Amino acid sequence: MSLPYPHRHLLAIEGLEPPYIAGLLDLAESYALLNRSGKTQRDLLRGRTLINLFFEDSTRTRTSFELAGKRLGADVINMSVATSSVSKGETLLDTAATLNAMNCDLLVVRHGQSGAPALLAQKVSAAVINAGDGTHEHPTQALLDALTIRRRKGRLEGLTVAICGDILHSRVARSNIHLLTAMNARVRVVGPPTLIPAEAARLGVEVFHDMRSGLRDADVVMMLRLQRERMAAGLVPSSREFFRFWGLDAEKLAAAKPDAIVMHPGPMNRGVEIDSAIADDPARSVIGEQVEMGVAVRMAVLDVLSRQLLRNA
Ligand code: ASP
Repeated sequence: MSLPYPHRHLLAIEGLEPPYIAGLLDLAESYALLNRSGKTQRDLLRGRTLINLFFEDSTRTRTSFELAGKRLGADVINMSVATSSVSKGETLLDTAATLNAMNCDLLVVRHGQSGAPALLAQKVSAAVINAGDGTHEHPTQALLDALTIRRRKGRLEGLTVAICGDILHSRVARSNIHLLTAMNARVRVVGPPTLIPAEAARLGVEVFHDMRSGLRDADVVMMLRLQRERMAAGLVPSSREFFRFWGLDAEKLAAAKPDAIVMHPGPMNRGVEIDSAIADDPARSVIGEQVEMGVAVRMAVLDVLSRQLLRNA
């Protein structure tokens, strides 16, 4: 198969050309099938070292990169800040020098500062994958969301996708907006004015401040977590009031198409941005499938980046 991805790192979706997005999704689809068959492909990354370097908490992303790396045969090491020298004040660049000395091949980085993975990418010999940087991007999340949508709806083009809630602090929203608009979906952002970034209109999305009009005839409803840890001041009223206006319940979901799917990147605040009855409804919610597709997408990303390493060797 020809290379579906020509770059050395995966730092962002912005600027990634549609054929490469489609190529990565196709490859991830084949990994999804492989995973369901229970088979592995342990030769691909045999002898490669994958380091998961997480400066922020994570459950799904870190675990699924670990699983993806192991399924492809890599030696996987998890470094979390609490147990590394970073908590003793080592700078990002010293960390990079250490990783180079260890001959790390694939480096998965999550950091609270936007741009930190890009900085590391300039200093390390490894291929760097951004696993979420500040409020900037979370590219593998957007890819796994797109794969889930494509499996359920058969396409991305022409679909109406409503991304709802705390858009301002969400790297998931930013990566999804870039990916979905590049693939010609119609993207809406829905939320209170305090949680919609001023740049939204420039990103080619429609802005709504009311759930019922924002969800009208949507094919996909993507809910986001209220990211209180990134809020400098009280941008929202109480959680209960937020749920009343912006939380997804059966009544608000009724505005979307009858077969609309419901997504959430996790972790969920049940009863704040989403009602448990919706999150757990197998007829509407694809949240479990998103997690499953996360492993497949990360296998595809590790696959293409390791082939690039061989080319550049
Ligand atoms: N897990 C996602 C992220 O790391 C979404 C979230 O935290 O709300 O951005």
